[in-house]
Order: sequence, then C-alpha cells, then structure tokens
Amino acid sequence: STPAAVLSAISAGGRQGVLFKGGEHIETAGNVDAVAFDKTGTLTEGNTRLTDVSARGAVSGDGGSVRGELVAGESLTDEQLLAIAAAVQSRSEHHLAEATVEAARERGLEIPAATGFEAVVGKGVHATVEGRTIHIGNPRYVRTELEGRSVDGLEAGLDAVRDLERGGKTSVLVVEETDDRLRVLGWLAFSDTIRADAAETIERLRERGVEQIVMLTGDNERVAQYIAEELGIDEVYAELLPEEKVDHIEALQGRHEAVAMVGDGVNDAPALATADISIGMGGAGTDVALETADIVLMSDRLDRLPYAFALSKETRRTLY
Ligand code: ADP
Ligand code: MG
Repeated sequence: STPAAVLSAISAGGRQGVLFKGGEHIETAGNVDAVAFDKTGTLTEGNTRLTDVSARGAVSGDGGSVRGELVAGESLTDEQLLAIAAAVQSRSEHHLAEATVEAARERGLEIPAATGFEAVVGKGVHATVEGRTIHIGNPRYVRTELEGRSVDGLEAGLDAVRDLERGGKTSVLVVEETDDRLRVLGWLAFSDTIRADAAETIERLRERGVEQIVMLTGDNERVAQYIAEELGIDEVYAELLPEEKVDHIEALQGRHEAVAMVGDGVNDAPALATADISIGMGGAGTDVALETADIVLMSDRLDRLPYAFALSKETRRTLY
C-alpha cells in the first residue's frame, strides 16, 4: 500500500498546482539530476504571433481592395502574400499556421480556397491555391522537398530568414511553383513570449543540484540559441524530429540517475514516454502530452517544478 508520507505529498502537491499521477513518481522525481525542456509552449507561452510579412519585391500597397489573387511572374503586395499563405495554412493545425490565419483575419483579408494540402513534419506544408502550388516552410524544407531545383530569389530569401531568426523569430519562406519554375514570393516571421517564470525556474533547478539542463526543440537553431541565452540554458539541440528528442533523452540517461523531460506537444510525447519522469503543461498542453506525463503542472506554472522536485526529495527522505 502507498505510504502515508507519499499520500500526504501528493495532496500537498495538489494544493500547490502539481498533479502527481501516482506515488511512484514522487520517488523518481526526488532523484532528478538532469532536465530536458521543450521550447515552444513549454519555456515559451506558445502564443505564437505573426510579426513580419514581406513580399519579395513587393509593389507598395495601393490602398485598394486586396484579394489573394496570383498572377504568374507578378510581384505581390504583403497583404496578397499573407492571404495566399493563410489559404494554405488554414488546412494546418500547427501553431505557425494558426498564427498566419489569425493575422490574415485580423487584417480583414479574403482567404482563397486551397486544395491538395500536405504537411511535411518538422519542415513545412504545401497546397494548391488558384492553380499554383504554394510551398511554405523552413530552409530544410526547401533543401529536401525542392531538392536540386533552382528557386528564383532563394539567396535573398534565405538571407532574410537568417536575419529574422537571429532576432529570435521563427521564419518561413513562401515559394510558388508553376509548371516549370519555382520562385520565392516572400517570407513570414513569428515570435512567442518567453514565460515570465522560466529564467527563475532554470536558476532554482541549478541551485537545487540539477547537474544538466538542456533544451530540445523542433525550431531553428538560431531561434533556439536566442531563447536559450535569455534563459541561461547553455545546451541546446535544435531542428529535432520527435524521435531525435528521444535519442537525446536516452543519451542523458546514460550519464544521469534520473532524467526529467518537460513538454507540451504531440512531438514531445515519445521523449516524455522515454524519460524517467515526464512533466506536462496542464494549461497549454496537448492531450497526448498530458496523458503521457507522470506529473502535470496545473496552469502551466513552471516555477512549481523546483518545488515538485524538492517535495519529492523530502518525502523520499522520510521513507528511507
Ligand atoms: P515546433 O513545435 O518547435 O515548431 P515542429 O517540429 O512542429 O516544432 O516544427 C519545426 C519547424 O518546421 C517549424 O519551426 C517550421 O519551420 C516548420 N513547420 C512545421 N509546420 C509548419 C507549417 N504548418 N508551416 C510552416 N512551417 C512549418
Ligand atoms: Mg512545444
């Protein structure tokens, strides 16, 4: 049967916004000496907003009605670019997609219909809009999905994306494909708010003896570095697919007694399942992440994490 000390720790945790899904997790959580954090939605709020729209060689806005109408070879306005991107992204549930559609709606743009939508995990999406295939994705998408084909305006596009990423903004290229050619139509950038309690949480964990703290993210390397610097995390692994997050957890397990993974997304679920102890975000977390998690931080309070580990350690001490 469950020791009384464990039961009372579970109920103390509950009052402090920490949901332990079972007594055995209290024992493991007391031993954590390495913590891996997902970035988007975990260290950040996950309230991704579109910050920049830039049509390549855009004609200046004429103030007239703007529809997302494409004419081959013609330059687009920023608003036309946004409307076309929103058409493709209205088929996706990704946070970048939702932010794109929201920005188009806020500007009152008419969003054209899209057909033949397809997503490439960790890279981007494409669909047909008004007879043309529109690709939206990161440089990796361009490299692998449009492999070897020449893309008009690619150098300028990649330069712009790199600059935006250095400032902490996740950025994607919009590429148009017609029968025989590909050209960059422009690019979009997004940003997200770092959680107010994230930096302090990292500091507390270090003070409490967590030896290694790492960030595991699907996002771009430069964006990840920017956020990590803000938070005082010195070890960052970026542009990871879900299985690659698992590989990093396993590598940490080779060097530590108990490895914790904190995440909110579907793409974190395999890594959460692999970690010795998994922590989900109660407010923003997806169902899959929350089901997989051993501990849930209610209301997304990251600062409850050092508390949860300390409570577990104390409880263990009374047991042995
Ligand atoms: P994250 O949750 O960190 O964004 P993902 O694996 O979901 O991780 O996505 C990684 C990257 O893949 C994104 O930063 C983006 O560059 C690209 N990507 C994924 N989905 C989309 C999409 N719907 N539209 C554009 N880019 C996307
Ligand atoms: Mg996430």
